[in-house]
Amino acid sequence: MDCIFCKIVSGEIPSSKVYEDEKVLAFKDINPMAPVHILIIPKEHISGASEINENNSAVVAHIFEVAAKLASDMKLESGFRIVTNCGPDAGQTVNHLHFHLLGGKKLNLQLG
Ligand code: AMP
Ligand code: ZN
Repeated sequence: MDCIFCKIVSGEIPSSKVYEDEKVLAFKDINPMAPVHILIIPKEHISGASEINENNSAVVAHIFEVAAKLASDMKLESGFRIVTNCGPDAGQTVNHLHFHLLGGKKLNLQLG
């Protein structure tokens, strides 16, 4: 499948990994919007939040556990944001489910 994040999972495309286990991968966003900007993705290809269902949702809970651990490791005690964009109106540019973990500065409050 021609998916850039699947290629990052397989190692075909390099990334700055910050965490990996059997189910998920976390790596630095190539175009950071904050001092800390990490993408956390399932290794399994799920095209976006609209494709989460009862068969694959456990990995989403796991991603949030990893996000909390990374936020702690990165000393984001004053706050952080987790965002997922789904579909063109939300600006999703990579069709492999990913959660942005943003922090390290006072984040812009505009959400929509
Ligand atoms: P979204 O717009 O929510 O789909 O987010 C996609 C994100 O993936 C953007 O923030 C991009 O900067 C990031 N991105 C795209 N290609 C790569 C890559 N090869 N390595 C790291 N981040 C990437
Ligand atoms: Zn993929």
